[in-house]
Amino acid sequence: MAHCKPVAWPASAAVLEGNLMSVEKIDTVIVGAGQAGIALSEHLGHHTIPHLLLEKDRVAEAWRSGRWDALVTNGPVWHDRFPNLEFEGDAPDAFVTKDRVAAYLEDYARMIDAPIRTGVEVIQAKRLIGEPGFRLETSQGPLEAKRVVAATGAFQHPVIPPIVPETAGITQIHSYHYRNPEQLAEGAVLVVGSGSSGAQIADELNRAGRRVFLSVGPHDRPPRRYRGRDFVWWLGVLGLWDMAAMEPGTEHVTIAVSGAYGGHTMDFRRLAHEGVTLAGMTAGFADGTITFAPDLQKNVAAGDANYLGMLDAADAYVTRMGLDLPQDRKAREMLPDPACLTTPITQLKLAEEGIDTLIWATGYRRDYDWLEVDAFDADGAPIHQRGVSREPGVYFLGLPWQSRRGSTFIWGVWHDAKFIADQIAIQRAYAEYDGDAGIVRSAAE
Ligand SMILES: Cc1cc2nc3c(=O)[nH]c(=O)nc-3n(C[C@H](O)[C@H](O)[C@H](O)COP(=O)(O)OP(=O)(O)OC[C@H]3O[C@@H](n4cnc5c(N)ncnc54)[C@H](O)[C@@H]3O)c2cc1C
Repeated sequence: MAHCKPVAWPASAAVLEGNLMSVEKIDTVIVGAGQAGIALSEHLGHHTIPHLLLEKDRVAEAWRSGRWDALVTNGPVWHDRFPNLEFEGDAPDAFVTKDRVAAYLEDYARMIDAPIRTGVEVIQAKRLIGEPGFRLETSQGPLEAKRVVAATGAFQHPVIPPIVPETAGITQIHSYHYRNPEQLAEGAVLVVGSGSSGAQIADELNRAGRRVFLSVGPHDRPPRRYRGRDFVWWLGVLGLWDMAAMEPGTEHVTIAVSGAYGGHTMDFRRLAHEGVTLAGMTAGFADGTITFAPDLQKNVAAGDANYLGMLDAADAYVTRMGLDLPQDRKAREMLPDPACLTTPITQLKLAEEGIDTLIWATGYRRDYDWLEVDAFDADGAPIHQRGVSREPGVYFLGLPWQSRRGSTFIWGVWHDAKFIADQIAIQRAYAEYDGDAGIVRSAAE
């Protein structure tokens, strides 16, 4: 790993020019210093484009305070990283803790001398009137920038669906606020959501001796490893990370796979055989009773089909390419259906079951309230092409499916950041054009 020199990250955005307080001007402001912002800083640096990252908390804050204690990466270290720095001292197929990821991103920012100001929140960004660029109001004063990149992440505000009222007398938390089993009051727990977060939290609580119910929705369930290769490798060679758009109807499907305990697919039958009670989607609540949709078997069957489909695609690839990879027939063996799958529960009387806590692993919503430009549709979603907004000078980074399936992942955002930096360089070349003065730079420079 590179040894990085420390970078001073000043807290104030205002500068003094002579005796007059003037507004600081910068070519490009990146809002957010998570992996997306840091990746873009590297690429802008290659183009020698002056830029500044404004981060309201700390570098990689989401990995520090927005994840539970035991979280490890979903992808192995050879894969879930930027190209120019490795995780030190780990086997290629190891999964590292969230703290290691935060430290890695901080090291990376230092290595590339990313000009970051932490503790500076962007409160508002608005187009300047009569001249190109934007005025940004921040918690440390105003700034002007020719371009603004929103690298504020796809997972900004935890979402809890309005099913169980706050007055129901039960503790409800989002997976964002879950830390560890000891944090919860004694008693049984209902975890809602079967993506990586929900399934892993249910697994952790069950291993800690809690009685756990898990509400399972639609999910993809890749194998962790098959024929000696991690599923991230299979998605890569099969071209699935680079899929440009979701298949219709799969917009909200989460991936149920984990790097915890050495890494495994989230096999819901295994969880059930180890003590977790599975249920369908959480549908309603009345008089202390949660009701579930009759879709558990369908959701688990669809997850199985996804799992087996990937094994088939992998086998076909091995045959076609003539690869010498070991057979893995065990991967196709399924555990017997547990009772909770053959006869799913339709409701849960919370008090009767001793359920004191509901954990909603139900996703996040975006938040661009600070960005007051014409770049959003009626639902507030960014209108963009690969992150280039319809509002000139505004860019987005880290969006789900920004250019491909891998866009929100550490390695995926690096490629999107390169594209955005290239687009900014191209626009700068156009902006500089003045044929009369002999300033003619190719947009391809
Ligand atoms: C539970 C969970 C596990 C994940 N595990 C993996 C994994 O194993 N591997 C993987 O590749 N990906 C994983 N991801 C997906 C993704 O890598 C992370 O969500 C990652 O944090 C996204 O990085 P980002 O830079 O896009 O956004 P963030 O990390 O959220 O960074 C955005 C930054 O913007 C700052 N910010 C927001 N608003 C403002 C403002 N107005 N002014 C200034 N600053 C602001 C925030 O403080 C934050 O630091 C996981 C996601 C979740 C939710």
